[in-house]
Amino acid sequence: MSDSAFQPTRPIAYGRQHITPADVQAVTETLYSDYLTQGPKVAEFEERFAAYVGASYAVAVANGTAALHLCALALGVQPGQRVITTPITFSASANCVRYCGGEVHFADIDPATALIDLKAVRRLLESHPQGYFHGLIPVDFAGLPVDLEEARKLCTEFNLWMIEDSCHAPGGFFTDSEGQEQWCGNGQFADLAIFSFHPVKHIATGEGGMITTNRRDLYEHLLRLRTHGITKDPAHMSRNDGGWYMEMQELGYNYRMPDMLCALGISQLERAAAGLARRRQLAAYYDAAFAATPGVRPLAGAAGHAYHLYVIQVADRKGLYDFLRTRQIYAQVHYIPVHTMPYYQSLGWQPGDFPRAEAYYAHCLSIPLFPSLTDEEQQYVVACIREFVGQ
Ligand SMILES: *Cc1c(COP(=O)(O)O)cnc(C)c1O
Repeated sequence: MSDSAFQPTRPIAYGRQHITPADVQAVTETLYSDYLTQGPKVAEFEERFAAYVGASYAVAVANGTAALHLCALALGVQPGQRVITTPITFSASANCVRYCGGEVHFADIDPATALIDLKAVRRLLESHPQGYFHGLIPVDFAGLPVDLEEARKLCTEFNLWMIEDSCHAPGGFFTDSEGQEQWCGNGQFADLAIFSFHPVKHIATGEGGMITTNRRDLYEHLLRLRTHGITKDPAHMSRNDGGWYMEMQELGYNYRMPDMLCALGISQLERAAAGLARRRQLAAYYDAAFAATPGVRPLAGAAGHAYHLYVIQVADRKGLYDFLRTRQIYAQVHYIPVHTMPYYQSLGWQPGDFPRAEAYYAHCLSIPLFPSLTDEEQQYVVACIREFVGQ
């Protein structure tokens, strides 16, 4: 037994949503309103979310994957174009390039942070002629913000666009070379940033996503692409047959986020800062506990870390994963390196291509971290991990 007398009354997963009566009321009010989709809650959620991350514009979409797809379309990814991302991410970060027929390339990670190593990106860029690559998709993995100022320098030097995959990091920031806090998704360095509202993410609406940007041209294009490529703005139409008239001007999609889910998002957003503060508090407790636990190595922290995940590395990861399950603790692995997925292997990537990502994968485990995790539950998680590693 663990050295704690505490026994969990519910399974403890690595992450979970937190729904309050205020959330339920917000959704119910919208259900009884005139709009289930494309009503006033969409624009309200967009405005509030843009303000939360410090960007000029936001576009709500069906989910984070749709957000990535629309970003790749808006940036003009075409067959044959090459885009660089990290192998340690959810496949969707890479797949958006494939949806548009582009080629995905990878740069290995920095083992201390598990973030894409910008020095490896530079080496990759320098080993090919100018114009060989078209874009970069850095990922704020686990909630640790990528240094986008450095990434922007590379993008400018090599003429790349940049999409920040910030699904893990709403509210996160890094400190730039002038000492300014730069918030994830604020559009200062990346052309576009994307977020997801999947239930394990900071803001949970079931399905849902957001794109943020400071570029008005991209913003207007994304609004059209989200709704079939249709415009209803007379200023942008080739003719006007009457009040009903609209024009489909390019091939778009139905990637809209419904009003009732935007209402839930608005309600969740009001608690986002408090949830982030709790995540940081829980992470600080884990940091202190594992500093005194040889055999458990957490990933590096940072002041602006948004702590979507708390990742530890242990020698016997599979053993610990299985052991925790017997104790009702459902840890998870983030991520199986994308280039080792059979689909990407069918495109020519192979195990061994990115050794640091693969070494990280062999030992990583994401342990429970979510705002409603109680102190007792967290102490129980620590006790079980210590028991396994032999403390
Ligand atoms: C969750 C996630 C996505 C995809 O978001 P969905 O809303 O599930 O489509 C993309 N990238 C990263 C890093 C994610 O964590």
